[in-house]
Amino acid sequence: MSKNLHASCHCGTVRIALPSEAAGVLACHCGDCLKTHGNFNAFLAAPVADVSLDGAEALVWYQSSETSRRAFCGTCGARVLKEVTPTGRWLISAGLVDGPTGRRIIKNLWEQSMPDWYDLPSVVP
Ligand SMILES: [Zn+2]
Ligand SMILES: [Zn+2]
Repeated sequence: MSKNLHASCHCGTVRIALPSEAAGVLACHCGDCLKTHGNFNAFLAAPVADVSLDGAEALVWYQSSETSRRAFCGTCGARVLKEVTPTGRWLISAGLVDGPTGRRIIKNLWEQSMPDWYDLPSVVP
């Protein structure tokens, strides 16, 4: 799979490439995402082995639950990714992708814990 999606943090230190065949955009409304992102988290999920990462030394890791940890850029604070330990997948923040993704939100997660100040994003099946 060619890594034809490119993502970077705000300061450009952390750069990611992943295949666009990665799953579509997922929107997570769980309490952990709200607290760490400040709002819901839209991400692209891909197996760790399919993702190239430059600038990994700038990442600060935070264990956000028993089964997952999250990484943000220590310079600019951009929330870069969440690692789901049991599945070996990285959930790359969709907003970091440079240029069009060709993808849409395909699923909402944890709608039951979303706050009352926005409407659920529409989903393209
Ligand atoms: Zn940065
Ligand atoms: Zn979440």
